[in-house]
Amino acid sequence: MKPNETLWNQTPVNGSNGHNGNHSGKHGHFHDEIGENHVATSVETPLRPDAFELSDEQKIEMIESRFREIMDILGLDLNDDSLNGTPRRVAKMYVKEIFSGLNPENKPEITLFDNHYNYREMLVEKDITFSSNCEHHFVPIYGRAHVAYISKGKVIGLSKLNRIVQHFARRPQVQERMTRQIAEELKKVLNTEDVAVLIDANHMCVSSRGVMDPNSSTITADYSGKFKNSETRKEFLRYIKM
Ligand SMILES: [Zn+2]
Repeated sequence: MKPNETLWNQTPVNGSNGHNGNHSGKHGHFHDEIGENHVATSVETPLRPDAFELSDEQKIEMIESRFREIMDILGLDLNDDSLNGTPRRVAKMYVKEIFSGLNPENKPEITLFDNHYNYREMLVEKDITFSSNCEHHFVPIYGRAHVAYISKGKVIGLSKLNRIVQHFARRPQVQERMTRQIAEELKKVLNTEDVAVLIDANHMCVSSRGVMDPNSSTITADYSGKFKNSETRKEFLRYIKM
């Protein structure tokens, strides 16, 4: 038996609560509450220990067949030319693109350089455009991340800051957790506590369903080290014009 076949098979076909049976078993009664209030349960993305025992190819095949079932249950005619390639397309997109950041193997390699120019002020990389997906509804979250750090002697290639943001965006996410994950990763790779992350994002689960508000956006921030100082924080916010 494949590692997660048991869990898949337990998922009720008529899944009346609209959520993954796999999770409702574990968190039971308060699952819907979490879904509506967008509260993350932990800084780490909740992954099972066997999350990467299946190869990407096996995952694509299994998701393809399950997605075909979902479309079929919805009554879509999968013999239609326009629809018959969709299950495989979605499966590949999940594994290789929009959820590829679940796999630690896909984390960007970070190289640091000596701070030869003795630059001692904060470095701000602003307007890092990302798209992610809400883990409660599996619809897009898109927006901009602004990150800053003050070097402790080493500096990072600028594009790596974008890559770190993109890596954590390519998972089912909660904005609060994504903000913390990016901050923790930056602190680790840059070997400094002096890190700030601010994310301003739109959630399709708010704009296209539920309250249907297309104009609101969500701001989250994480400040550590010197950024806890209000002057330093103000300087950062001035640079990103918040
Ligand atoms: Zn949502």
